[in-house]
Amino acid sequence: MFNDDPLFSPIRIGTMELKNRIVMPAMHLNYCPTGEVTDQLIEFYRKRARGGVGLIIVGGCGIDRVGNTIGMVQLDEDRYLPRLQQLVAAIHSEGAKTITQLYQAGRYASSQLTGNQPVAPSPLPSKLTQEIPHELTGEEIKKMIQKFAQAAARTQQAGFDGVEILAGTGYLISEFLSPVTNKRTDEYGGDLPNRMRFALEVVAEIRKAVGPDFPLLARIAGHDFVPGGHTNAEARIFAKALEEAGVNAINVTGGWHETLVPQITMNVPPAAFRYLARGIKEAVSVPVIASNRITSPELARDILTSGDADLVGMARPLLADPFLPLKAQGLDSSPIRPCVGCNQGCLDHVFRGAPVACLVNAEAGREAELGLNNKTQADSAVLKKILVVGGGPAGLEFARVASLRGHDVTVWEKSSQPGGQINLAAAPPDRQDFNRFTDYLVQVCEMQDVKISTGQEATAENLLASFEKEGWTDIVVATGALPMEPPFPVEEGVVITQAWDVLAGKETGHNIVIVGGGSVGVETALYLANQGTLDAETLRFLIVNQAESIDTLAKLLWQGKKRVTLVEMTKGVGRDLGSSTRWAMLADLKRHQVKVLTHTMVKAVGPDGVRVEGPEGESLIPADTVVPAIGSVANQELMKELQAKLPIQVALHSIGDTIRPAKVLDAVQSAYDAARQL
Ligand code: SF4
Repeated sequence: MFNDDPLFSPIRIGTMELKNRIVMPAMHLNYCPTGEVTDQLIEFYRKRARGGVGLIIVGGCGIDRVGNTIGMVQLDEDRYLPRLQQLVAAIHSEGAKTITQLYQAGRYASSQLTGNQPVAPSPLPSKLTQEIPHELTGEEIKKMIQKFAQAAARTQQAGFDGVEILAGTGYLISEFLSPVTNKRTDEYGGDLPNRMRFALEVVAEIRKAVGPDFPLLARIAGHDFVPGGHTNAEARIFAKALEEAGVNAINVTGGWHETLVPQITMNVPPAAFRYLARGIKEAVSVPVIASNRITSPELARDILTSGDADLVGMARPLLADPFLPLKAQGLDSSPIRPCVGCNQGCLDHVFRGAPVACLVNAEAGREAELGLNNKTQADSAVLKKILVVGGGPAGLEFARVASLRGHDVTVWEKSSQPGGQINLAAAPPDRQDFNRFTDYLVQVCEMQDVKISTGQEATAENLLASFEKEGWTDIVVATGALPMEPPFPVEEGVVITQAWDVLAGKETGHNIVIVGGGSVGVETALYLANQGTLDAETLRFLIVNQAESIDTLAKLLWQGKKRVTLVEMTKGVGRDLGSSTRWAMLADLKRHQVKVLTHTMVKAVGPDGVRVEGPEGESLIPADTVVPAIGSVANQELMKELQAKLPIQVALHSIGDTIRPAKVLDAVQSAYDAARQL
């Protein structure tokens, strides 16, 4: 059934022949503010198609103005057809196939964004917006089904190769399916056959509109992960019914948006939900697509060869590296730039209405602006000899891009390993994927002959001395930021330990107070609270041998050897964390029994602990270790010294947090832009 390489074996979905098994599932990009396809969207997808992906699913695409959201492609009017045709032509010209995904968010839609009251099978408040949707009448249901069919017909008219209905994730079709959200007493509610009726009528009307040969896919939840909702057992029945109704492939994702089971955050193990795809595959004979955290081609191949699915969905990995398929196939020898699952540039941007970007790929979303062939080589007349001081993400990204452009680049990093702030971000439990970005940058830099010297501190003196020998033309200061000193009094002789030092591995006592509930404070609290908890191997052993009860295991998983208190002066902790990740980290704080004190000011630190003033008045929190996580300031010391002492012919630059502390994504972006200027 496979060629030599399962990932690059052709496959058919209905009448559509795909050259390989890699699918880029629909993802909100927010590149189309008016609903019309933009150059930004066309060039974004043209690049992914050029990178070798087999199938691109464009969407979600709005089928109406009630269940859509901002920035998405619209399929509800014919006036969008010309630009849709251009998008299809761009993708086809690079050898990929493309379909749309039809989107109606039901009660997840927001009247603040659409100006219309959301609709749903039953008037139950949305778990995302708290809005109560309008209950669709029988007549309105028929009209809604027509809208799906009309959008599918426009998809066909625009030249797409097929169409997908979004029938999972908690959107309109899945709201009809689930007994949790469908309380109707007519023929669309009640038992499962009745609850499936809406989806199956959508399929039937689409078939009528596009004919028997136009490929039709359905994206379904392999398990809703909603109490009282569908499990894989009902999902299998639904998938079978879809197949019988004429659906040509089933695209399986995890749970609904409102589930408390994380779906795509960094703590989700790679391909954790492949078992859901396997369950569906056992029930149907049409191709099945597995999705969610399929983080590498090796993992993708394993899913295919083990028979869990016929195709793999890789959305964020292709945002991070459009050329992943060609690289996986050995047609491009450079390393794959890995998606680290941070959501900083993708999901978190979508949640705040910003266009999608990517932490590890500064070009993502900027393909139209940068040009597809993105001139990388600097003019040979201006090739430079560059020293980058600081081997954090900004320094390494600068080195990567500058060396790609032909410059001679050296990096000095004062610690024993490169990575800087990323090493700290990767220290808390389940955050180690951040290290994959550093590994990638180091690997590419080395391939491009960047000299990375670790354990090499830069001072104005040794820089000036090296200047004599090396003849640097440019010095790029990427020394990052420094933790802020605590603003409260600390009694003489009392030692405090900065959060950054804790995350770097410095020992602490057992009774710890962390001061500052921003992202670093939360991450440090989780890092410390996790120490001494049950490891995965022991957990497996105890489960397999039924040695302990579930309650005991849960306790051992969460109860570590340290008592941690997190003190924050404002009303909440982790407020600078992205919304896609924050809720999961706060849930972990609770499970670890980290004591969180908000609206609480630190007055002073003494040998017995931390004196605070909170809503209940003043009190002492006993502590043997006090950890400030107050924030950071730009480390400009070296920059200032060099400005005064460096010979005039050497160009001096600063990048990343050295200018202003910000998120890793911003530091990488600024480094990329600066390196392109040289
Ligand atoms: Fe992956 Fe983070 Fe990039 Fe999103 S922003 S694609 S999660 S690396």
